[in-house]
Amino acid sequence: MPDLHYLADPAATELSMGVGDGLRLLRQHEYLVVCVTNQSGVERGLFSEATVHQIHRQLNERLRRYGASIDAFYHCPHTPEQGCECRKPGTALFLQAAEDWAVDFPTSAIIGDRSADVEAGTKLGLFTVLVPEVAHDDLVNQELAERHVRPDARVSTFGAAAAAVLRRG
Ligand SMILES: [Zn+2]
Repeated sequence: MPDLHYLADPAATELSMGVGDGLRLLRQHEYLVVCVTNQSGVERGLFSEATVHQIHRQLNERLRRYGASIDAFYHCPHTPEQGCECRKPGTALFLQAAEDWAVDFPTSAIIGDRSADVEAGTKLGLFTVLVPEVAHDDLVNQELAERHVRPDARVSTFGAAAAAVLRRG
C-alpha cells in the first residue's frame, strides 16, 4: 500500500508507482482487496479518525481512474507502546477482515512495504510479497534480520508484486 505514515492532508495523498495498475490487475482476477494500515498518528494527535477515513476515500477516488479500488480499509490508531493486537505485525485486523469478508488465508496474499507486513502475513499463512520503498531498503533489511522473517517474494514495484501474487495462483 502507499505509505501514509503521518500524512495528515488528504489532498496530498499520492499513489505510489504502479499501485493503480497492480490493483486493477488483481481486481480483474477477482481478488478482494483489503487495506490494513498502522496509523499511530491518530493516537499521537497528529490527525483525526475522520482524516483517516477521508484519506481512504481519496485513495479510492484516485484508484477509480485506473479501474481499481480497495474494497475495505482497516486501520490501527494505536502507538507501539500501547501494545495493542491490531497494530501490524499484530493480526487482529486481518482476523476481523477475514471474518467480515470470508477471506481464506491460504489462498490469499499480502503485499506490503515493511517487515511488519511480512511478519503478520507469515503468522496467518498468507503468501507474502515485500515491496520496500527504495529509500527504506536498508531499514527494511535490518528489520527483516531482527525479526527473523523472510518474504515469499521481494520485488521493486507494486505491479511486479501483483504479478507475483497471480503467478502463485
Ligand atoms: Zn491497534
